[in-house]
Amino acid sequence: MNKIAVTSLGCNKNLVDTEVMLAHLKRAGCEVVGEPGEADCLLVNTCSFLREAVEESLDCIVELGTLKQGGRVKRQVVAGCMVSRYGDQILREVPEVDALVPHTDLESIVRAVTGSSPDLDPGPGPGPGPGLPFPPRVLSHPSHRAYLKIAEGCSNWCSYCKIPSIRGEFVSRPSESILSEMRYLLDQGVREITLVAQDSGRYGSDAGEGSLASLIRSAVGIPGDYWLRVLYVHPARVTPELLQAMGSDPRICPYLDIPFQHVSPPVLERMGRGLAPPPMQVVRAARAAMPGLFLRTTLMTGFPGETEEDFRLLLHFLTQAGIDHLGVFAYSLEEGTEAAAMSDQVPAQTARDRADLLMQEQAEISARKLSLLVGRELAVLSEGADENGPYGRHRGQAPEVDGVVRLDRDVEPGTFIRVRITGSDVYDLEGEVMEQSQI
Ligand code: SF4
Repeated sequence: MNKIAVTSLGCNKNLVDTEVMLAHLKRAGCEVVGEPGEADCLLVNTCSFLREAVEESLDCIVELGTLKQGGRVKRQVVAGCMVSRYGDQILREVPEVDALVPHTDLESIVRAVTGSSPDLDPGPGPGPGPGLPFPPRVLSHPSHRAYLKIAEGCSNWCSYCKIPSIRGEFVSRPSESILSEMRYLLDQGVREITLVAQDSGRYGSDAGEGSLASLIRSAVGIPGDYWLRVLYVHPARVTPELLQAMGSDPRICPYLDIPFQHVSPPVLERMGRGLAPPPMQVVRAARAAMPGLFLRTTLMTGFPGETEEDFRLLLHFLTQAGIDHLGVFAYSLEEGTEAAAMSDQVPAQTARDRADLLMQEQAEISARKLSLLVGRELAVLSEGADENGPYGRHRGQAPEVDGVVRLDRDVEPGTFIRVRITGSDVYDLEGEVMEQSQI
């Protein structure tokens, strides 16, 4: 029996691919072990959308590769976006790697690990039986929450981004496949389903398969106590139809992640994101349609040609918009992108300094907004405990990227509770557990 140790890098879409590969491996009789040193084979599911991510993936592969010298570990398999970006060049240039698995053929993981083709009728194993309209998965993180991938790839071709050339054009998953998988996950005890894609707002646009709004309405047609969350909606696709659908059921988290990237019209134009209405207009429309909406966004500093004035507009936007959760990237020149060939490249240090200034501004905004929640009672999903004790998240906090609610006592992970908020700091809240509750 092959013992596999798995490392999953990159985004939550990549994590879903890791979970699918885990299920194929388990069906083929492989055992997944926690310690790389105890494994026969190592699997690294890589990320490569930024140079930094490529370096992190390579460092991981090379470091794990040293375990082969001991003879215990026989093979190292690499999957994910590095395979899509560099292909066989990896086998030629990275001696620690024995086999590759492209994201378009996750089932080939069994052959890559065992050297033999998977048994097409593998019999009982984790996940749904064969023939169900969605791939098997082994959930890799707390079993009460799961990401649900609704599409693959991206067709927005933002001028700085490698993802369309790595993951391909946007392809929506059939809605029945998504809904079947959601039912299956809920039957397995999942309490929070997070819909993800590179641009979830594009759902259905390629296949006449309805829209994200209709998908959401169909999803909440599934009975049960759960939260439904949506991540990554391009600002051009925050439509009244979507906002109405999101306000149609209390199980839909009043939470939108709208990656604006920038607010200065000339910069947005050069990014290839000029389509969308002005960001402040999108923010106002979303809040008007959904009072109490929590907003997350991503901003980029140092894009070629970004002037001090452009940057001032970003800072001003933050002070106006009152964003709840912010991620900031300093521009990274990615070979082969349109932006890489642009003149007026901004010095990397300037990009980083501007990113720090935005985060400093956001820290004050976040602290101020969180302090307004003190005294309120919120529905919270308990997550168990970490090194800082028991915690959970309210509907305005997405898993793994936002702050949490620190709890005054342990609660079974995956339980919906009522919490009275008693304190706040820059990113986290603290509260007193009142009672177990429906959603
Ligand atoms: S929306 Fe733009 S930045 Fe996001 S994955 Fe697509 S091309 Fe890349």
